[in-house]
Amino acid sequence: MDCVFCNIAIGKIPSNKVYEDDKIISFYDLNPQAKVHVLVIPKTHISCADEINEENCDLISHIFVKIPEIARLAGITNGYRVITNCGEDGCQSVKHLHYHILGGEKLSERMA
Ligand code: AMP
Repeated sequence: MDCVFCNIAIGKIPSNKVYEDDKIISFYDLNPQAKVHVLVIPKTHISCADEINEENCDLISHIFVKIPEIARLAGITNGYRVITNCGEDGCQSVKHLHYHILGGEKLSERMA
């Protein structure tokens, strides 16, 4: 298994964890692009947003239910941005679905 996020999910690769339950895990991004930058991933391998479907969409809604709690746990108090990059033009570098939560400061109004 050469997926870095699958290996984080099973604890084979260490991460600076913010939140974990049986379905998802959240950890600080290694290369933060905001004062607070955390990632949320499903433990099950889903390669990107293109792979979201009727069978796995409960997992995606679970991620979004947990995002406010994860943001609070990471110390974000004044709003945040949630981003998922998908595919080549989306500049997705890790091919395991993940949501970036960015905050802890006023973010750029530009999104691309
Ligand atoms: P993306 O470009 O949307 O695929 O984002 C992948 C993100 O994963 C980047 O922001 C990387 O800094 C981050 N990343 C890659 N490997 C690790 C790791 N082992 N621990 C934490 N963050 C990572």
